[in-house]
Amino acid sequence: MAGSQTRNAPLNLTADEFRELGHDLVEQIAGFLATLPERPVTTGKPPSEIRTLLGQGPLPERGADAGDLLADTARLLFEHSLFNGHPRFWGYITSSAAPIGILGEMLAAAVNPNVGAWTLSPVASEIERQTIQWIAEMVGYPGDCGGVLVSGGNMANFVGFLTALHAKVGWQRQQQKELCLYASKETHTWIHKAVDLFGLDRGAVRWIPADEKLRLRTDVLQQQIEADKQARRQPFLVIGTAGSVSTGAVDPLDELADICQKHDLWFHVDGAYGAFAAVLPENAALFAGMQRADSLALDPHKWLYAPLEAGGALVRDAEKLRATFSYHPPYYKFDQVAGEAVESFVDFGLQNSRGFRALKVWLALKQVGRLGYEQMIRDDIHLAQTLFESIDRHPELEAVTCDLSITTFRFVPADLSLSGDAKAAFLDRLNMNILTHLQEGGRSFVSNALVNGRYVLRACVVNFRTTREDIEALPGIVVQAGMEVLQRQS
Ligand SMILES: *Cc1c(COP(=O)(O)O)cnc(C)c1O
Repeated sequence: MAGSQTRNAPLNLTADEFRELGHDLVEQIAGFLATLPERPVTTGKPPSEIRTLLGQGPLPERGADAGDLLADTARLLFEHSLFNGHPRFWGYITSSAAPIGILGEMLAAAVNPNVGAWTLSPVASEIERQTIQWIAEMVGYPGDCGGVLVSGGNMANFVGFLTALHAKVGWQRQQQKELCLYASKETHTWIHKAVDLFGLDRGAVRWIPADEKLRLRTDVLQQQIEADKQARRQPFLVIGTAGSVSTGAVDPLDELADICQKHDLWFHVDGAYGAFAAVLPENAALFAGMQRADSLALDPHKWLYAPLEAGGALVRDAEKLRATFSYHPPYYKFDQVAGEAVESFVDFGLQNSRGFRALKVWLALKQVGRLGYEQMIRDDIHLAQTLFESIDRHPELEAVTCDLSITTFRFVPADLSLSGDAKAAFLDRLNMNILTHLQEGGRSFVSNALVNGRYVLRACVVNFRTTREDIEALPGIVVQAGMEVLQRQS
């Protein structure tokens, strides 16, 4: 800085430097996206090897050339990552990222609004508000609901859970009767964390069994609520799932809504994965009742193909959401701008400073509209059904379930002489080993589930790059892996 009128901050780049680096990086990203299908889904390298790539050095004392740094880092990531944007990635529920979302992230970071307060993020706050309204509209939820974008499904479910607790129980919990809530055994593990986080007893969760189609059994639910009431406990919340994480099962939501209405309980729906499939007219019956939920969690980083992270929580009564999270400390002055009342997202959720995660979601919604999403979600579901059918036809594969865009299946060798428990244990272990082999092989990526006690392989298509050809290749890949594992075992 000495002798100069302008400050020379080490991190700063001139406009020309930024332009050149940015063009180079975008060039490399475009090349990477174009060559995704030819790359392995993952290299399956051991952690020690990945660590070696970074070196063991201490924090660098001095800086490096930004151009070299970006080029080297892009190469490092392109050569050693698992690509959920790969057309043959069907593990867990992580979608391929919409290209406009990738660019949107860059734009959001460039402006860097703090979407905690309207004052600090005028356009960004309005874009988030509109995004929430459109998301609600897309799934048939009331457009005047309260809502907030969060990091993902876990956080979105926490928002619904805490709002339920506040609305139905209040803060004076010590004097209350023993609280209880109801959830299917198929509920995602966010529920364990929520119970811990919000200070409930582990026993507060009444685990309701699922039927043979893995949907919550409402007959058992009714009995359990009655029993708890009779024992002078305090039921306050029922959780329904719209697309379970294991198999995509949708609970009987309309019946759950009736039961909640009858007993004056909060109805929360975890639609992190499946809720957006309600955009399809042909799914109207399946999702009937979801629009009656008091709160709904749904993940734009799943079926809206937003780059990580983007989850969303919607609450039917916006005032209840506000009452749960709104405080007015003396050091914030966020209520009015130019004489008009404004709402700040800090009053609707757990975060204080907040990034502009709405932009990537909003851009994608505007780029393709409702019809674009209908087409992509419908195609994903059809591809999962196609997979189920071709597996069902294959003599050495057993198709197990197909709901929404998740198909579960397993390898069952033709000449298996075992029976009973020995056969079950053998098949579980065999398919476990096949999964490891498949995941390390990098030709396609699936995950696993436990369905009625059986260990199964699981393909979840939340991927606009997957083609019919990709799907048709999977049975052959699995059978080949099965043969190789069998050979290795014998
Ligand atoms: C994915 C998922 C979650 C967790 O969401 P994250 O975005 O991973 O935090 C919760 N519930 C269901 C049903 C899910 O599919």
